[in-house]
Amino acid sequence: MNFTEFGLDPALMESIESTGYEVATPIQEQVIPKILAGRDIIACAQTGTGKTAAFLLPIIHRLLQNSNDGQVNCIILVPTRELAIQIAQNLEGLSYFTSISSIAVYGGNDGMNFATEKNALSKGVDFVVCTPGRLIAHLNMGYVKLAGLQYLVLDEADRMLDMGFHDDIMKIISHLPTKRQNLLFSATMAEKIRSLARKILHNPEEVNIAISKPPEKIVQEAYVVYEPQKLPLIQKILRSVPYKLAIIFCSKKQNVKQLNRDLQRARFNIAEMHSDLEQAEREDVLLRFKSGRIPLLVATDIMSRGIDIDNIDLVINYDVPHDGEDYIHRIGRTARAESDGVAITLISEKEQRKFAAIEALLGKPVRKGNVPEELGPVPAYTAQHNARKKSHRRFGPPQRRRP
Ligand code: AMP
Repeated sequence: MNFTEFGLDPALMESIESTGYEVATPIQEQVIPKILAGRDIIACAQTGTGKTAAFLLPIIHRLLQNSNDGQVNCIILVPTRELAIQIAQNLEGLSYFTSISSIAVYGGNDGMNFATEKNALSKGVDFVVCTPGRLIAHLNMGYVKLAGLQYLVLDEADRMLDMGFHDDIMKIISHLPTKRQNLLFSATMAEKIRSLARKILHNPEEVNIAISKPPEKIVQEAYVVYEPQKLPLIQKILRSVPYKLAIIFCSKKQNVKQLNRDLQRARFNIAEMHSDLEQAEREDVLLRFKSGRIPLLVATDIMSRGIDIDNIDLVINYDVPHDGEDYIHRIGRTARAESDGVAITLISEKEQRKFAAIEALLGKPVRKGNVPEELGPVPAYTAQHNARKKSHRRFGPPQRRRP
């Protein structure tokens, strides 16, 4: 589903486009319409699924239509300062072309930040992304403008309970207007989460994004390269990794057609598969592939779901799939039934962040292979590193931005 289908505010759409999101992730597809309709939500979703944008986008949209000036409009409670910083950064990007203001409020920093936070909380700010303890420190001083609060988000609620924040959460809630929209996100749905939800949520809709993990027997590997190195590298891989049947995935059909031409020119026995082919052509290609007459197929994600061919033993992602779900579906084409399989992903510089998000979803990094020296120098894999570097940024006073 494309973001244009949600009917979001044009300034918000502009921010989404500049962030580079095109297609909504499964959790976004499920949750955004429900939040726009004003429902309370309890959602089971892990980091890496796009859950942050799933709650930020509809709240930003609704605040652009109706925000209480001089008030805190939305509180996002999170377990750690790192998560507060990460969400605040995401929020800055997604509200860049809008008039939405925000501040991250978290413990452990110096007195100057406390004064900045006090200033924002007493003058009003659309979003406050905060850890419970620090917010309570401000609440105890009596200046936080909460009478106009409309939204409460609990993110990583299971972690907050594990860290002993239950009473702090309930204390914060006792300061809030009772008429508000509540959204609770948690990686698990343990009984203690359901019990917390019963205390806080009103007639919630439940959303469950079950992410399947890839089978252990798939050997996953990735190569970090510059985009022009992908073509020579894939040829080397196809000549050195033994396979019976292999699929190469590209996200766009233009890329599928181009790569098919390039690899045919390099004398590989290969065919292409994408939605521009007639049904009869697709069936013919599939038949020739299944029988091994053409052992190599380059395809769009049309092939990544539900196609049952048992002896595919190599999957190559020529570009990084859009999200973790797509990655798992693509590599799941190999190592079906009893056979083992290899899944290789080529990561260009601008795809590094996307791949880091997939690794976050997998819960572990994918092994990076050595690119043959004759292909020249390669970029460093800095996606994780950048995320850490950014977290040292300070947040100044909230600012109203006009497009
Ligand atoms: P989260 O699960 O919220 O931590 O998001 C994981 C990563 O996915 C972050 O780097 C987001 O910026 C990115 N992301 C979220 N939604 C999308 C989308 N629709 N398209 C591409 N990337 C996304």
